[in-house]
Amino acid sequence: MKISGKTKLLGILGDPVSHSLSPLMHNHAFEALGLDICYVPLHVKADHLAEAIDGLRAMQFLGANVTIPHKVMAMALMDRLADSAIKVGAINTIVNDAGLLVGHNTDGAGFIRSLEETISIDYAAASVVLLGAGGAARSVAFALAEKKVSQIVIINRTQERAQELKSLLERDFSSLSVVVKGIDDEYGDLISTNKLVINATSLGLTADLKSVPLWVDRLTKDHVVCDIVYRVQEKNPLLVAARDKGATALGGLGMLLHQGAIAFHLWTGIEPPIDVMRNSIEP
Ligand code: NAP
Repeated sequence: MKISGKTKLLGILGDPVSHSLSPLMHNHAFEALGLDICYVPLHVKADHLAEAIDGLRAMQFLGANVTIPHKVMAMALMDRLADSAIKVGAINTIVNDAGLLVGHNTDGAGFIRSLEETISIDYAAASVVLLGAGGAARSVAFALAEKKVSQIVIINRTQERAQELKSLLERDFSSLSVVVKGIDDEYGDLISTNKLVINATSLGLTADLKSVPLWVDRLTKDHVVCDIVYRVQEKNPLLVAARDKGATALGGLGMLLHQGAIAFHLWTGIEPPIDVMRNSIEP
C-alpha cells in the first residue's frame, strides 16, 4: 500500500482492537479498487473516546468503525444518527458527511446478509433463540424482527438487559412474540421448537469442548446454529457440536464481512469488492 499526501483515512476505535480483522479486510478492498484510502486500528480507552471522536473530525477522517466497548457511548458523540442506529441504540459505523459525523449500525443488516448467503429462510415461519442482550444481540434481534420472524426467545445473564430489549422490540413490532429466560432457567424445550439458535454473547461458549452447553443435545438437522464470534470459526466447539447433530452451522465471519461491506459503501459510495474482502479474512 502506498501512502501519499492525498491518502484519506479510516479507522476502527476499540479497546482492545489488535484482534480486529477490519483493517486487513478494508485495506485489501481499497488496494483492489486502486482507492487512495488507508484503514488503521485506533486503540482508544473509554475515557478518551470523546477526544478520539473529535480527532476524527479534526483530521477529516472519512469515517470509522466502532467496536467493543464503545458502541453505545459513541452514539451520544455523533452529530446525527441514521435510523439503523436509533433503533438499536448503538453504532458500529461513523460517516463523516462534510464535517458532520453520522452514526450508523450495519451489524444487523450484515448478519441478515450472512444468514441469507447460507440458508434460504422463510422468516414468517422462523422462531429464534437468541443468547445475549448486548449491542450485537440487539442489532441481530431488530434485524430479525424487521424480517417478521414469529418469535424471539432472549436468554441472557442479566435479566434487566433482556427485559429492556424485549420492551424495545415489543414497542416497535406489535405482532412479534418475545420471551425472556435466564441462563439458569430450563430452556431445552425452546431449543427443540425454535430452529434458529444464535449465540450473540461474548461468553466463552466456544472456549473449549467442555463449555458446550447441554442444550446442544436438542439440536437436529432442521436447526441452524449461528455464533457471531468469529475468532475461532473452524474450531468453534458450539459449531462443531451443531454440525455433529446434522444442524447447519454459521460462524461470525460472514457477519463481519457484510457489516464491513455495507460500511464500505457508506464511506465511498462504491460497490465493495466482496470476494476480495472475503478472501482476506477467511482462514
Ligand atoms: P456486549 O454489548 O458487551 O454484550 C455482551 C453479551 O455477552 C451480553 O449479553 C452479556 O450478558 C454476555 N456475557 C458476557 N460475559 C458473560 C458471562 N460470563 N456469562 C454470561 N453472559 C455473558 O458485546 P457485543 O457488542 O454485544 O458483542 C458480543 C459478541 O459479538 C462479541 O464477542 C463480539 O466480538 C461479537 N460481534 C461479532 C460481530 C461480527 O461481525 N461477527 C459484530 C458485532 C459483535 P450480560 O448482559 O449479562 O452482561
